[in-house]
Amino acid sequence: MKIQKYTFGMGDRFAHQGPAQLAAVVAAQQQGIDVYPTWNKSNREHSIIGSTPDTVRAEADAAVQAAGWGSDYYVDADHINLKTVDGFIAGSNFFTLDVAEQVGQAADPEAVARFKQAAAAYVGDLVIPGIAAPFHVDEALLDQTAAQYLAAAVEAGRIYRHIAAQKGEDTFITEVSIDETDRPQTPVELFLILIMLSQVGVPAQTIAPKFTGRFNKGVDYVGDLEQFEKEFDEDLHVLQFAIQQLGFPDTLKLSVHSGSDKFSLYPIINRLVQRHGCGLHVKTAGTTWLEEVIGLAEAGGDGLELAKGIYAGAHAHYEELTAPYATVIDIDPARLPAPDEVAAWSSDAFVKALRHEPDEAAYNPHFRQLLHVGFKVAAKLGPRFTGALEVHQAIIARNVTHNLLNRHILPLLSRS
Ligand SMILES: [Zn+2]
Repeated sequence: MKIQKYTFGMGDRFAHQGPAQLAAVVAAQQQGIDVYPTWNKSNREHSIIGSTPDTVRAEADAAVQAAGWGSDYYVDADHINLKTVDGFIAGSNFFTLDVAEQVGQAADPEAVARFKQAAAAYVGDLVIPGIAAPFHVDEALLDQTAAQYLAAAVEAGRIYRHIAAQKGEDTFITEVSIDETDRPQTPVELFLILIMLSQVGVPAQTIAPKFTGRFNKGVDYVGDLEQFEKEFDEDLHVLQFAIQQLGFPDTLKLSVHSGSDKFSLYPIINRLVQRHGCGLHVKTAGTTWLEEVIGLAEAGGDGLELAKGIYAGAHAHYEELTAPYATVIDIDPARLPAPDEVAAWSSDAFVKALRHEPDEAAYNPHFRQLLHVGFKVAAKLGPRFTGALEVHQAIIARNVTHNLLNRHILPLLSRS
């Protein structure tokens, strides 16, 4: 089973926007972009919402059937590990193996020896075609990288075999994610990690490294754009080299996690992907939930009241909601509007503060990030919230589709 060149990951926390999300992919296809839909949901999201993995499969199948989508589509068991994977096995055909927990753990000395033997051919000045300066690979770098990542690669092998034993090899797409770690991986580390993955027999088709800079949830990238461009370009050369040298599927591509709303990166990623002629997977999740809140606010009346109530609830539970996401949000509490103030806002004021239009003076990224992690408040409302999604479905769907198509897929993948 081989993944297509371009795939786009969409999360839908409350499982109501599948058709609106697919509509964005269909519209992109009509504009000549050969992109395929992936519905992703992590165990963390499931446990906060109180949903089960089969609901994602049901939603994807229903959306695809209703739209008459006749091509491939994927259901991604996002950020799973050995403890959480079992519930996802039946319904998923894409597995994101999260091995961040094993990063920095000691690996078995025999595995270290096998890795160093496999990497021996690259010791010295490692020239990767397309990258100007050779990387200097020495014994110390191998030891250091093994100490950091080998236990994680071994664990990825365990998870992969656990899934393959039940589903059969070659019946699903394997992604390896090392994005939720403390420190970005350099291009040469990425190559060494790929050696490890090939050693342990993980046929990864997508890999999600941690890139330089901050990928905060639902807002733009914060970091050095030039440095990002250099690193992303080098990573693409590394992947091409790994396909040739290490026997990875020729579909191996980068996956950009927390990929929503990184507007300043999209022209760079677009340019590099076109130049390399390579594939791309971009994962988004919470951006769709925010469009639900925007749609409710735009609807006015009870929809607006509900949106204001969710903000008040999120504000009241600030510590609890932000703690699990501390490394991927940057909220200045002083810049959060008081719930009393928000209670007096018009529909327009609420929408302008929340919608990600960087040039809009009233746009407030602090407000947006708090609502991004505030979906637990809506989950607790249960049918009061999902009922409102149904009542205001048309206006919400329009926002969901527009956001994914015009703010994400087109800037990322259209040819200039
Ligand atoms: Zn991730």
